[in-house]
Amino acid sequence: MTAFSLDPARTAWCAELRTLAAEQLRPLAEKGEPGHVNRPLVAELGRLGLLTRLFTSGALDLCLMRESLAQTCTEAETALALQGLGAHPVHAYGTAAQRDRWLPGVRDGALVAAFALSEPGAGSDAAALALRAEPDPDGSGHWRLTGEKCWISNAPEADFYTVFARTVPGAGARGVTAFLVPADRPGLTGAPLDMLSPHPIGTLAFDAVPVTADDVLGEPDRGFRVAMHTLNLFRPSVGAFAVGMAQAALDATLAHTAGRDAFGGKLKDLQTVAHQVAEMALRTEAARLMVYAAAAAYDEGAPDVPKRAAMAKLLATETAQYVVDAAVQLHGARALSRGHLLEHLYREVRAPRIYEGASEVQRAVIAKELYREAPTRPDAAVEDQ
Ligand SMILES: Cc1cc2nc3c(=O)[nH]c(=O)nc-3n(C[C@H](O)[C@H](O)[C@H](O)COP(=O)(O)OP(=O)(O)OC[C@H]3O[C@@H](n4cnc5c(N)ncnc54)[C@H](O)[C@@H]3O)c2cc1C
Repeated sequence: MTAFSLDPARTAWCAELRTLAAEQLRPLAEKGEPGHVNRPLVAELGRLGLLTRLFTSGALDLCLMRESLAQTCTEAETALALQGLGAHPVHAYGTAAQRDRWLPGVRDGALVAAFALSEPGAGSDAAALALRAEPDPDGSGHWRLTGEKCWISNAPEADFYTVFARTVPGAGARGVTAFLVPADRPGLTGAPLDMLSPHPIGTLAFDAVPVTADDVLGEPDRGFRVAMHTLNLFRPSVGAFAVGMAQAALDATLAHTAGRDAFGGKLKDLQTVAHQVAEMALRTEAARLMVYAAAAAYDEGAPDVPKRAAMAKLLATETAQYVVDAAVQLHGARALSRGHLLEHLYREVRAPRIYEGASEVQRAVIAKELYREAPTRPDAAVEDQ
């Protein structure tokens, strides 16, 4: 990739992904039940080798997969992303035994993963999480997990969960441990949630669920790093998902406004319409470039990844909301019919502004990084000139 465009091989790969999504994934997505894990779709993502790519690709290729799939089939995009989010901690921090047990099934789409960080009382402030990992009273060195997780994508139907639990009371981010918890552990139950987006999501309840040292991902009490490392990788790719949705809305709008008769011509002949479409394209392209740049910075190990990832996620998700809303407006009433692409995108586009760090949280990250990078003395910038 140059600073401004993808190389021809990546451009061709994106086109191939869009075709695969249209021809092989969308038919399976259409047969799925809203709010439930679509296992045939996950298995097809595995058969096509895309789930394996989750673990062999860098951040940029992850973004290209998410953008390309989102353009044609958001359900396939989300199923892919959730396998990555839930299983990345196992890939990056798991022991050989954990990786051998779980990752082949994740890669071939036979096992469904989930990432369980949020709780009813700890969303944006994830370090306030309260699900307790208490030492087993029998002195075995094992723990019991007790508490709740909420808004967990793929719950309660996933086969295993990366669960973040408090091992040191009152220690904030320093006292959290990541555990790999198989769904069939005694004491683990869950319930689906009915949300605006057509997304499998639910709650989890832990009633003294037994876990051992073999279930720890990474080191005890250092699980917050596992969560943040995973989110740093995925944050630009949420932006890529948003860019894919924005592009789909833009493409639909170009087709519609070019064909729709109005006032003795086509809608596109009205200058306000044409300028609105130009604005949608302008903002989508700006967001795309920022996402690619943030992902490339991640792959290069650049020092300013947190700031760039936050900027990319913020800009792209807010842009997609703007573009999808404008597309609805330019389509008129038909866009609001149940089952219309834009009705679907209108529901899909809202949640990414909240999850994996709400837009306000991204602004807080950007500001913190700016002040960290800035000269510490008020007069330093002037003196340095
Ligand atoms: C579709 C969907 C899927 C999800 N999937 C998962 C998942 O798989 N795993 C998981 O662990 N979680 C998941 N979540 C939960 C998600 O991560 C949380 O919703 C998110 O962290 C925000 O937490 P909250 O909803 O409790 O909002 P709160 O933290 O209560 O925040 C509410 C609002 O307050 C404002 N706000 C919060 N913090 C600040 C701040 N620092 N500065 C300024 N304003 C602020 C923002 O406007 C924010 O939207 C999912 C959520 C959704 C909607």
